[in-house]
Amino acid sequence: MDEEPERAKRWEGGYERTWEVLKEDESGSLKATVEEIMFQSKRKRVLESHGQVRLGMMRHLYVVIDCSRTMEDQDLRPNRLTTTLKLMEAFVDEYFDQNPISQVGIITTKNKRAEKLTDLAGNPKKHTAALKKAVDTVCLGEPSIYNSLSLAIQTLKHMPGHTSREVLIVLSSLTTCDPANIYELIKTLKTLKIRVSVIGLSAEVRVCTVLTRETGGSYHVILDESHFKELLMLHVKPPPASSTSECSLIRMGFPQHTISSLSDQDAKPSFSMSHLEGSSDSSGLSLSGYFCPQCQGKYTELPVECKVCGLTLVSAPHLARSFHHLFPLQAFFEKPLEKTNRNRFCEGCQGELKDKSVFTCPSCGNAFCMECDLFIHDSLHCCPSCIHSQSAT
Ligand SMILES: [Zn+2]
Ligand SMILES: [Zn+2]
Ligand SMILES: [Zn+2]
Repeated sequence: MDEEPERAKRWEGGYERTWEVLKEDESGSLKATVEEIMFQSKRKRVLESHGQVRLGMMRHLYVVIDCSRTMEDQDLRPNRLTTTLKLMEAFVDEYFDQNPISQVGIITTKNKRAEKLTDLAGNPKKHTAALKKAVDTVCLGEPSIYNSLSLAIQTLKHMPGHTSREVLIVLSSLTTCDPANIYELIKTLKTLKIRVSVIGLSAEVRVCTVLTRETGGSYHVILDESHFKELLMLHVKPPPASSTSECSLIRMGFPQHTISSLSDQDAKPSFSMSHLEGSSDSSGLSLSGYFCPQCQGKYTELPVECKVCGLTLVSAPHLARSFHHLFPLQAFFEKPLEKTNRNRFCEGCQGELKDKSVFTCPSCGNAFCMECDLFIHDSLHCCPSCIHSQSAT
C-alpha cells in the first residue's frame, strides 16, 4: 500500500483550531464566538448536503458493532457499549424514516469472531428489539474487522447492482484480530462496490484509513457523545451512487390496507407471509393486511419484498418521503440583514429577523431566519413560500 500523505489526523487539527478561534468579548464571555462556531457548522451541513448528485435510493447497509473488551470503557457514559446501542436505536429509526425502501442488518464482533445480530431487513422494530437486548452483551477479547467484513460480504454480494452496498463499522478497539490478509479483502470489497465507513471511538487506526479510502467510505473519530451522534446521522442520508452503478427500473407494488368485511361469507382470517421466515411480529391470524397486487400474498407491514413473487411492496407515502433525496432543495443564499429591503419578518415563523444575516430562497426570494432555514432543509425539504405561491396560482 502507498504512503499516507500528511493530511492525516484531521480531527486533531480541527479540534485545536476551535480553541484558536475562541475569543472573549469585552465582558470576558465566550458566548458570542461559541454561537458563531455552532452557527457556521449548522450552515455547513445545509450547504454540503444539497448539491445535485445521483444518490442510491435503495440501500443495503450492514452496521458492525464492536463488542470487544474496550467497549466497557467508561469515557462515554455509562460505557461505550450502552451509548453505542442507544445511539444506534435512534439511527435505525431515522434511517428507515429517510430511506423507507432500504434495508439494514447488524453484525457484532468480539473475541476474534463476528456474528449476525439481525439479518438484512426493512423492518426497524426487529433491529431496535435486538439492540435493546444486546445491552446485556458481555464484552470480550478483540474484534475482527476481517471476519465482520467477510460476513457482510456473504450477503451484500447477492444484492442487485442498482442498490448501494454499504458497511458501517463502529470500532472501539485499536487492534483487530484478522485470520488473513485484510488488504486482499479490501480488493474484494472494491470489486464488489461495497462502501465501508468507520466511526472510531478511540483514535485513528491505519488499516481503517486505507479501508475507507479504498472503498470510498468515510472515516471519523468521535470527540464526545454528541459528536458521535452527529457522525452517525451523517450516514442516514443516502451516499452518492457510484458512476458505474447500474440504473434500472424497479417494479413496485402499492398495496392498500384492506380489511375483509365480516359480512362477507368468504372472509377467513389468514396468516401474513412474513410468518414464513419466523418473523417475530406474531400478530397471528387476522382479517386485515396489505395484499400483494401480483400474487395476493398478505403482509402486515410495509415496506417488504414479497416472499412469493419478489415484488417490492411499499406505501406511496413512503416513496414520496425518499423522493426529496433525488431533487434536493437548493441551499438558501445568506445575506446580511441590512441588504434585504423586504419586510423584517421571517417568512416561515413570522418572527422578527434579528440575526445579522438572513437566508433567502433562490426561487421566491423570501427571507427566512436561520432556524427556519435549517428546518426547511433538514425536515421539510421544500420551500413553504414557493409551495404557497404555486397553490395560489
Ligand atoms: Zn407477490
Ligand atoms: Zn423563522
Ligand atoms: Zn421559495
